[in-house]
Amino acid sequence: MATSTMRDSLKQLARRSIGETSFDAPLRNHSWWGIGGPADLLVQPTSLEQLCTLIKSLHEFQLPHLFIGDGSNLLFDDVGVRGVVVKLGRNFSSYEISGRKITAQSGVFVPRLIRNIGRAGLTGLEHAIGIPGTLGGLVLMNGGSLRQGIGTHVQQVHAINSMGEMIRFDRDSCQFSYRKSALQNAGLVIARVDLQCSTGDPVRIQQRMRDILRSRRKKFPRRHPNCGSVFLSDPKNYDQFGPPGAIIERCGLKTLRIGDAMIPQQHANFIVNLGRASSADVLSLVRTVRQDVFDKTGFLLNCEVRYVQPDGQQVPAHEACDDLQLT
Ligand SMILES: Cc1cc2nc3c(=O)[nH]c(=O)nc-3n(C[C@H](O)[C@H](O)[C@H](O)COP(=O)(O)OP(=O)(O)OC[C@H]3O[C@@H](n4cnc5c(N)ncnc54)[C@H](O)[C@@H]3O)c2cc1C
Repeated sequence: MATSTMRDSLKQLARRSIGETSFDAPLRNHSWWGIGGPADLLVQPTSLEQLCTLIKSLHEFQLPHLFIGDGSNLLFDDVGVRGVVVKLGRNFSSYEISGRKITAQSGVFVPRLIRNIGRAGLTGLEHAIGIPGTLGGLVLMNGGSLRQGIGTHVQQVHAINSMGEMIRFDRDSCQFSYRKSALQNAGLVIARVDLQCSTGDPVRIQQRMRDILRSRRKKFPRRHPNCGSVFLSDPKNYDQFGPPGAIIERCGLKTLRIGDAMIPQQHANFIVNLGRASSADVLSLVRTVRQDVFDKTGFLLNCEVRYVQPDGQQVPAHEACDDLQLT
């Protein structure tokens, strides 16, 4: 529960022109894991002006806050977030394709954007067709599949700093590397992304997307809520150990269950919510898997998924349960 001073500031904030607001919003409705207590205030801006007003106001009121996209890579705590959660999603998702260039607001849902880029006869981003998040989240994480990342096709990122000022980053200054970018932990919100693709045959591009989706459907669990791959692949050790799913499977950890969080039979790098999993269930399972894999192989897995602490700060999920016996 927020303090009464914070509560007053939140009420004043919600009266400004900042977009859709909702008090005590259950975060489980904004995470693909279906886990998470209430955010004191959830705000969904619908324009750049509203976003800038919101950021300046957050600074003015000194309110703890965090920015999210579709919550497909986030574990919220069961107690929720004391402060403001700003969601850039469906309300902030217009885009334009012109020639080989795509200009998009960060809240656009990636599969929708990629499908329409393909229909326009532009190629290069097919690998991202099945990634269920927003463009902002994808760029921040340099997400991708089939060992590719979105960063390769980024031309420019338009981000806003904590003072409400727009800053432009070209691809080099984003410093994209495997699931990393300089935009992470920089206190920035991504507002707009400019992408550039090559031209190709729309029929072939769409066929490739269908193939990718078919293969993902076979590989990944779909029955229970999950946040995709939990542990990061380590390019340095890939040849020796293989991907995290293979390592975890070799350690015999498929179907390991803590509370309602379980490593599914279908893919060992996922954790599914069987119904009422808590954030503590997921973190305990992460900890147990890391410890067991380390004991059996000497390999230390790190998380791709980020845990959101009650104060709104984020850390890779393994850092929230980092009391392993590493001897
Ligand atoms: C079934 C499934 C399959 C998946 N497969 C893949 C895959 O193949 N490859 C892959 O890379 N990922 C995959 N993921 C993970 C996830 O979809 C990606 O990381 C995605 O890009 C996250 O986007 P999001 O909008 O959901 O971000 P969120 O989960 O909401 O946030 C992720 C991070 O981005 C930040 N963020 C979000 N939007 C903004 C913004 N506009 N400005 C600043 N910061 C922002 C958040 O603060 C957070 O740190 C999968 C997830 C699921 C559920």
